[in-house]
Amino acid sequence: MIQLQPGQKLIVVTDLDGTLLDHDTYCLDEALPVLQRLRDLAIPLVINTSKTRAEWLALETKLKLNAPFIVENGSALYLDGEEILFGVPRPEILKKLNSLRSRYDFVGYADVDVTTVMKWTGLDRGAAMQSRERFFSEPLLWKDSEEQAAAFSEEIRQVGLTTLWGGRFLHVLGQTDKAKPLSYLESPEKRIVALGDRPNDLAMLERADLGIVIATSEGSSLPGHHFLRSSLTGPRGWAEMMNPLLDQLFSQNSTPHG
Ligand SMILES: [Mg+2]
Repeated sequence: MIQLQPGQKLIVVTDLDGTLLDHDTYCLDEALPVLQRLRDLAIPLVINTSKTRAEWLALETKLKLNAPFIVENGSALYLDGEEILFGVPRPEILKKLNSLRSRYDFVGYADVDVTTVMKWTGLDRGAAMQSRERFFSEPLLWKDSEEQAAAFSEEIRQVGLTTLWGGRFLHVLGQTDKAKPLSYLESPEKRIVALGDRPNDLAMLERADLGIVIATSEGSSLPGHHFLRSSLTGPRGWAEMMNPLLDQLFSQNSTPHG
């Protein structure tokens, strides 16, 4: 891991659910003062989520956050009004899934109505409708065994797609992950700090200069001895980890140019 120097230029890349947002309530109040600190320090924030573009645009308005964002687990990056694609169109994914249906037990977003999605996720109707506006991925409620999940993931790989475990779902998408779009954000003078809580964040955390794992209610399960780890969950853990980091790098005494 690269040592961060006082005054180091940063980009902060964060997962949403279970990381910046509470896993159950989707609130982020505890992180708001830290987001303000980032704004004051002119440190860019990038959202990197399994959520859809529609979901993020609604949240962005609500939170008054104007940030570049990556949606559907690295499928598309929205930067300076441009859309950069890394995933594959959802109809292709659904077609492949249909051919596996007889041998594996799963239910996907495309199989159910908005009320069921509300039940699965705890989202209100509006947010659930936005989460159904998917273009590059299909979240599955996995009803089969773990062994079957491994065999399923292998078959998915063989047809040129990939699977990722999120907080609630097994996501099926194109051959991308949350790390791939980061290459568009990298610059020689900036270091990337990434925060995430689940296996779908692992590639992003590995790619970052500093990876911060936010604890889940089941503890912290992501492998990697070089990550920093919060003890608190969601936005509380986010603030717990980001405040000391910003103190260390940008307290008045440690900033070389004031
Ligand atoms: Mg998460």
